[in-house]
Amino acid sequence: MSAQGFFDTGILRVLLPVPLGRPLSYAAPGSGPSSGPGSGPGFGEMPQPGSLVRVSLSGRELVGVVWDGEAETLPPDKKLKQVAEVYRTPPLSAPLRRLVDWVAAYTLNTPGMVLRMCLPMPEALTQPPPSRQVLHIAQPQPDLRPNAQRSRVLAIAAERPGLSQSELAEAAGVGAAVVRRLVELGALRALSVSADSRRSEPDGDAAGPHLSEDQQAAAQTLCKAVAARQFSVALLQGVTGSGKTEVYFEAVAEALRMGRQCLVLLPEIALTQAWLDRFERRFGGQAWAWHSELSPGRRAETLRAITSGRARVVVGARSALFLPFADLGMIVVDEEHDASYKQEEGAIYNARDMAVVRAKLESVPIVLASATPSLESLYNARRGRYAHLLLPQRHGTAEMPKVFAIDMRKHPPASQHFISAPLRVAIEKTLAEGEQAMLFLNRRGYAPLTLCGACGHRLECPNCSAWLVEHKARGRLLCHHCGFQARLPDACPACGETHRFKPCGPGVERLAEEAATLFPEARLALMTSDTMTSPQQITEMLRRVEDRAVDILVGTQIVAKGHHFPMLTLVGVIDADLGLAGGDPRAAERTWQLLTQVAGRAGRAERPGSVLLQSYEPTHPVIAALARHDTEGFLLAELAERERGGMPPFGRLAALIISGADAAQVGQAGRLLAQAAPMAHGLRVLGPAPAPLSFLRGKHRERLLLKATRDIDTAKCIAEWLGRVKLPSGVRLAVDIDPYSFL
Ligand code: ADP
Ligand code: ZN
Repeated sequence: MSAQGFFDTGILRVLLPVPLGRPLSYAAPGSGPSSGPGSGPGFGEMPQPGSLVRVSLSGRELVGVVWDGEAETLPPDKKLKQVAEVYRTPPLSAPLRRLVDWVAAYTLNTPGMVLRMCLPMPEALTQPPPSRQVLHIAQPQPDLRPNAQRSRVLAIAAERPGLSQSELAEAAGVGAAVVRRLVELGALRALSVSADSRRSEPDGDAAGPHLSEDQQAAAQTLCKAVAARQFSVALLQGVTGSGKTEVYFEAVAEALRMGRQCLVLLPEIALTQAWLDRFERRFGGQAWAWHSELSPGRRAETLRAITSGRARVVVGARSALFLPFADLGMIVVDEEHDASYKQEEGAIYNARDMAVVRAKLESVPIVLASATPSLESLYNARRGRYAHLLLPQRHGTAEMPKVFAIDMRKHPPASQHFISAPLRVAIEKTLAEGEQAMLFLNRRGYAPLTLCGACGHRLECPNCSAWLVEHKARGRLLCHHCGFQARLPDACPACGETHRFKPCGPGVERLAEEAATLFPEARLALMTSDTMTSPQQITEMLRRVEDRAVDILVGTQIVAKGHHFPMLTLVGVIDADLGLAGGDPRAAERTWQLLTQVAGRAGRAERPGSVLLQSYEPTHPVIAALARHDTEGFLLAELAERERGGMPPFGRLAALIISGADAAQVGQAGRLLAQAAPMAHGLRVLGPAPAPLSFLRGKHRERLLLKATRDIDTAKCIAEWLGRVKLPSGVRLAVDIDPYSFL
């Protein structure tokens, strides 16, 4: 539709950040009989597709976006509310609007909820930015009675223009009144400027390190892709420490030289600070972070910098994917395999996959980097849809660590102990050499299960079908699913015996306790999401490890990713089999990825590293592949397995999760959905069946799984399916396309 046609009707379609299925119609400002001179709304701009506008909906004032497409035909007597204001901010770009439509259709979310992710803080763009008063020397200078204080103030103001009144007073060592008087006398002029901080710009011409031949080849491909200003996908696969970051930095440099913006996605906020520091060292200027821990002021400032183009490079968690860039030139998804890219609450989407979609809509290249690529990306690379760039070696003299499996059937630790003799010996040796060790166990808390020694009663969450986990550091029992907390009771609620509760199995706190007993001389640190709650704490802890103030680092998956500790030479994985059990079709892939990442922490500098995997099933394909460093073999075997089962990436999967407080209603909803299930060649609906966590946060849960061949449009199919069913009112339905979590 032409821009002309867009205004013809005088009706605007406005998408609002609320869960509505479609944009709503409003009268354009200045149209219609109600807007005589003087009575019209304050419209600063002519609206165009993407313009931010203020409208009212059910008495609420909302900021929405003018959407594309034909306005609906309305009965002639229908009175539309008028757009109250058109903001002067840059409109939401066409590719971003298409992304909203695309993601909404693909994930079966309302476009309004997806829009909310593009405009996380509309007021940051629609309100004037905060300003501050700064002082400049007035030209010409009025005649003043000179004195020492005044001269000092004026000298400093001339030298350093742009200080505020209090800054200037402080710099000159005078009272605020002296400065104020100079303003009154006309010697200093107050100017209002934006309070947004000024950051030094990264320099695309700054020299990077001298690249190896493999690195050079990969970097060249990426730079060409950036220069081409076209959509392309590259899978950058390199072992941990091979220089993937250095390589994609070259592509960032190219985008900077072209004057365009870059978006880099990281899976964990915890990795951001180290990344920012490294970026600044490489480019002599700053990147901007985007994640949930930013203060509101910083968020608003960052948003303004992104829309104005002032933020040249943005690094962030998955939510950064939807930000309204002024001129996006390329996207990087680092650790692209990471399950944290899957948003599991609210709008369920995979940021890695949607980043590829955004790159396509924006016509820019995207780099997916990982040591352990997802099977989806690997499959696309093998089919030639993605360029496949390989870095097979660690940088410099660093070697890949040696990986050994410890057969726990042959070396069982004492009952309720978890460090086997071979691992203990290896730790002793490492400490004796003055090197560092890491013990990894992906289980938070003290023990995964607490039971009564008298009657065997297990402490369970009242809201979930899950055990309560003891957290000794907090003196609490915790449910890891709903956050329920309780004190450990004195008496067993089942048999009444007192003080008989026993922890069962290892949690990371208990492991740290055992390590402290075994190695009383060693300086031990525990790192979990429970003990490290802020990015600062994490940065601080990482620094302590780097500075060798820690001998043994014990942690959960928070220690697995990305960090570079030169003196860390031993990694012990306490329960390598954890995560392999259960019916999750991604279990093998995920365990392999996680353990490869953990193993990759060992021996990253001159000293060689080793990794010990404690396992009760050392011949399991995942454990065996890790011990042989057989990435290729493992991935191919896993791909073949998926192909046999028609699982992604060879087929499509979608989960429908029904939840509600009333078990009977949930069951009824499941049956209704099953009765109305689509029937077609190449498509199967499994279930309803109780979800593995059949009771979660006080809600009963059932799930259906839709399995289809690749040629089937699952989203459309599900939309039609849901259109045929009227669910009971107390029941909620969530659709998870390409599920990662099978809880
Ligand atoms: P990855 O992202 O693949 O884990 P990094 O880019 O973090 O690897 O590189 C690992 C370490 O090796 C980093 O300290 C990095 O600075 C260094 N490094 C990698 N390539 C080079 C190079 N060509 N010259 C100098 N140092 C390099
Ligand atoms: Zn719970």
